[in-house]
Amino acid sequence: PNSLNLYISDEQQMIELGAVLADSSGLEGVIYLQGDLGAGKTTLSRGLVRSLGYTGAVKSPTYTLVEPYELERGAIYHFDLYRLADPEELEFLGVRDYLSGGALCLIEWPQRGEGWLPAADLEVRIEVSSPGRQLQLLANSPRGEQMLEAVQA
Ligand code: ADP
Ligand code: MG
Repeated sequence: PNSLNLYISDEQQMIELGAVLADSSGLEGVIYLQGDLGAGKTTLSRGLVRSLGYTGAVKSPTYTLVEPYELERGAIYHFDLYRLADPEELEFLGVRDYLSGGALCLIEWPQRGEGWLPAADLEVRIEVSSPGRQLQLLANSPRGEQMLEAVQA
């Protein structure tokens, strides 16, 4: 199957899911993170980045739009396009360089960059469902399917 629903009951579980996704991605590809403000997109991103050994703060790059993490095991580029006024601005951010391979790109608010972003290997849709979060994972490529399989294992 290329889609999976799961209930993630707290922040810690969200962080652990991030680690599974990072590992199974091979640190390459594109993950879209969808959901309202406060859904948990950055929390999941933090789990991915921290699983590579990064110990600093991982915040939503709301004003800078992208935060690069270049770590020993590989690179993660974390985008938050919430404040992107015009998708054409993505050209000036050097998105093409980030997306040219050899890195994992996490993109919050991908709908703001529609038409200017590469397709996602995996889409993660998050909804608040107190006390936790209901997630839908959609795989759009073999890499995405590999991530789904790892989550199910
Ligand atoms: P977003 O980036 O989508 O705006 P954040 O990642 O900043 O959202 O998370 C907002 C809040 O949701 C944080 O306080 C975080 O602890 C909480 N949170 C994240 N994931 C979960 C979860 N699975 N269950 C319960 N609370 C969560
Ligand atoms: Mg965020």
